[in-house]
Amino acid sequence: MAQQRLDKMTNEKWQAIVNNDAAFDGLFFYAVKTTGIFCRPSCKSRLPNKENINLFQTAEQALSAKFRPCKRCKPTGMRLPDDEWIAVITEYIDNNYTSTLTLESLADIGHGSPYHLHRTFKKVTGLTPVAYIQQKRIDKAKELLIYSDKPIAEVGASVGISNTPYFITLFKKKTRHTPAGYRQLSNNNHEGDL
Ligand SMILES: [Zn+2]
Repeated sequence: MAQQRLDKMTNEKWQAIVNNDAAFDGLFFYAVKTTGIFCRPSCKSRLPNKENINLFQTAEQALSAKFRPCKRCKPTGMRLPDDEWIAVITEYIDNNYTSTLTLESLADIGHGSPYHLHRTFKKVTGLTPVAYIQQKRIDKAKELLIYSDKPIAEVGASVGISNTPYFITLFKKKTRHTPAGYRQLSNNNHEGDL
């Protein structure tokens, strides 16, 4: 079982992570369950919650447990390809679009700088991170408008946009319909189908 390969967290190891202690590099690797990324103890990335950490003795073990190497500390000694790095970020957005997302927080999660993330994201996907997040939210909002009876404000909040006027403005910009108009239109179309 995968669990048996996990190394045990000790106070010493936790302190090594907290202090970015390079003396522990190579002795263990830590993976963060919420981001799917693993690091060397010395990594300068933001300190994760202790309870979200899995420890591994080797980078191979972390890889085989489906974690991806951190772009900043390069725990496998190799550079993470751009498309894989961006896959980490888009996956995170896809799973967390209902919460507040900023370029800074995404950069933190991806262990890179906001500037570098913005550039690389655009290069790989053709969209800026913000445009990708908006796209995701509007697509989900469309689904909710068609398949649920939630009020407009609730639909906005459900896709991470609790400011209703802003939600309506963004929705209109992306779809050329207001949320209410879009719902009406889809209802009419369904009736037409019958
Ligand atoms: Zn790292």
